[in-house]
Amino acid sequence: YFRALENAGIHLNRPQIQAVRHGKGPLLTLAGAGCGKTTVLAARAGYLMAMRDVPASSILLVTFTSKAAAEMKLRIAGLPGVRPAAARAVQARTFHSFALAMLRHRGVQDEVFGETQAQHTVMKMMLRQLGLSEAFQPESLLSALSAWKAEGRSADELPETVREESDAKRAMLAYEAWKQERNKMDFDDILLRASALLRDPDVLQPLQRRFSHIMVDEFQDTNALQYEMVQRLAARHRNLMVVGDDDQTIYTFNGARQESILEFDKVYKDAKVITLDINYRSDARILGLGSNIVAKNVHRRSKRLSAAGREGLPPQFATPSGPEEEAGHIVTHLLGQVEEGRLRYRDIAILHRTASGSRSIFEQLIMRDVPFIQYGAGAVFYDQSLIRPLMDHLRLSLNPRRMESIPSTLGPLYVSREAGMEWIMREEKQQAKKYPLIHLSRWDRLRDFQREQVKERIRLIRSLTTMKPAYAIQEMRRIFYDKYLESGDTGAWTHYKETMQESLEELETAAKRFDTVEAFVSFADELSERHRQMESLRREEDSDAVRLMTIHRAKGLEFPCVYWIGASEGILPHSSALHSELPEDRRAGAAPTTAVDNDAALEEERRLAYVAVTRAKELLYITSPASNHGKPAAVSRFLLEAYGVIPEASKPEARRSSFGQPKGASGYSSRAGAGSPASGTATRVSSRPGPSSATARTTSSVAGSQAEPRINVPVWKCTDDACKAWMRR
Ligand code: ATP
Ligand code: MG
Repeated sequence: YFRALENAGIHLNRPQIQAVRHGKGPLLTLAGAGCGKTTVLAARAGYLMAMRDVPASSILLVTFTSKAAAEMKLRIAGLPGVRPAAARAVQARTFHSFALAMLRHRGVQDEVFGETQAQHTVMKMMLRQLGLSEAFQPESLLSALSAWKAEGRSADELPETVREESDAKRAMLAYEAWKQERNKMDFDDILLRASALLRDPDVLQPLQRRFSHIMVDEFQDTNALQYEMVQRLAARHRNLMVVGDDDQTIYTFNGARQESILEFDKVYKDAKVITLDINYRSDARILGLGSNIVAKNVHRRSKRLSAAGREGLPPQFATPSGPEEEAGHIVTHLLGQVEEGRLRYRDIAILHRTASGSRSIFEQLIMRDVPFIQYGAGAVFYDQSLIRPLMDHLRLSLNPRRMESIPSTLGPLYVSREAGMEWIMREEKQQAKKYPLIHLSRWDRLRDFQREQVKERIRLIRSLTTMKPAYAIQEMRRIFYDKYLESGDTGAWTHYKETMQESLEELETAAKRFDTVEAFVSFADELSERHRQMESLRREEDSDAVRLMTIHRAKGLEFPCVYWIGASEGILPHSSALHSELPEDRRAGAAPTTAVDNDAALEEERRLAYVAVTRAKELLYITSPASNHGKPAAVSRFLLEAYGVIPEASKPEARRSSFGQPKGASGYSSRAGAGSPASGTATRVSSRPGPSSATARTTSSVAGSQAEPRINVPVWKCTDDACKAWMRR
């Protein structure tokens, strides 16, 4: 069989073959990133069918995403001795699709309500009905609710110690009731209900008999409910194979439990453990950096990976002055690579830590006409539900009669958008006003305090034009959100508030670049317009476009070239993971010591850094902006720990490298040249430091170039025979 595999171009190494051929009983396959875990799973499914006569329909293969499940089926279909019908019959599914199939089989007809957009729409509707539209972001409430339910708890049990909590809880309960009344279920309901069903022996036993072989990919990110389901299903045959990398547990905020993989062979005492330690994905120095980073975690199984690949270019490093310069620098650099024919756009991924962390790079990509696809984000930053009302207040300050900007300002007034707008439009027909919003103050449905608020809001809108845009944002933030942000915190809400705070800080930072409200607003409008024009690009699966995504989204994927942005203290590690009792100098961004800090949150951040680095096959570029939201930020401790010293790039005398020498392109200048909309925009951006001076000062190769290896990253050579054979090919 393995010869046949080789003829088909798949040369497995010895432990990989061992895992594929494993006989009866539980099997844990532990491996670092890129060591062929997913590859082995597919090969084993083929082997079981071709060599052990296991019927395809008895194999259950669980993957993390539906895209991965579809790819898995394709891979299996391409294996020797697998008939197309058999490949189709293998149950390659996500936990959710498996659970759903089970519910359907038991006659549950409830409609799935899985599209994120549909959930948003309903949550938005609930918030509006409760008059809470502008107090909460639907996506944050949905994700808090989801994490809560992943632990097997219901929304009734959510805390409500402060007023905002009980407001949010009311919205969540309304959302849950809305679904129930209409016989609908969302993804979390599917899992909860399926796991409840599996406690019934009449449901469980036939499934246990059917699935003789169960395999789970990305096992390190299963949550309690999912793990329990797998354990029940596998209890009869006990042919449970899990593959994963404890160093890649990055979803604990969604209920993932690293213990499941760390303790698998304690729970299953007879489990065979096979370690795969040859990485076929990344060049040796990239892998060396990744391994060095994650080696500082205590809560892990230690591994020593070697790279099958050659020693290519060392990871390159730069410390731009801040995210704007970082973005400009990266776009210039990647355009250079594409123009010189070294890479296609689609070979490139840009990875960032948080959702709002992509704002600068997103703007640069758009304004400089780089085709790109942002995974997982629906809207331009300025159009997101939290930010939109603030921008609309600014728009109204320039033009109070801009009708399409009025609805989003009604939420903070606790006025229904539809009814409020209807009233305003009707009154406008009678008598047009300079500030159509003022009609509301004569609306009989309003209470006195609301009438007062309408007048105050108009005073605010009038005053905004004369303010500096950043100050205007601060003002509105104080009026609309501060009360909520300063209220008490309990576990379930912390994450939500952090995201909110971060988005608002990002908005303020963005506004600081502009001298007038007008310049800021027209920049945001142009951005939305250009983003709309890129729509067709986003619809094509395989378009030649740069991929922009969070590190979380990049899990399991690989790219020839990766830019990891925001490798600075406060960004990665994220500020939420840094101890509040840290001395001020360290929090504020002075270089941290190389002493290793290992609490759970910090370890998860370190794993994220590891995942980011190990997505790269040949080229890895890392940038550590020296400031974030106007505060100084030191180079990420993860880099310092890995290299043992402050990377050379952060010292003024550092050598120049190709990364960091922008070709004279400045700021938002467009590739389309003068006269394009972008060149007009460039003049509106204020106080933007010229990238060339700053980057020359700060850029170098961290891992040391061939000529002058200043910082030594251990690189391990491969010794395994199969690996050598692979290299000879
Ligand atoms: P991750 O931890 O990121 O999910 P993984 O362990 O699942 O990674 P794979 O995606 O299966 O790794 O493999 C990484 C890369 O190495 C793929 O491009 C795969 O084709 C290649 N690969 C895996 N095993 C071998 C092998 N024995 N010989 C050559 N290439 C291999
Ligand atoms: Mg994988």
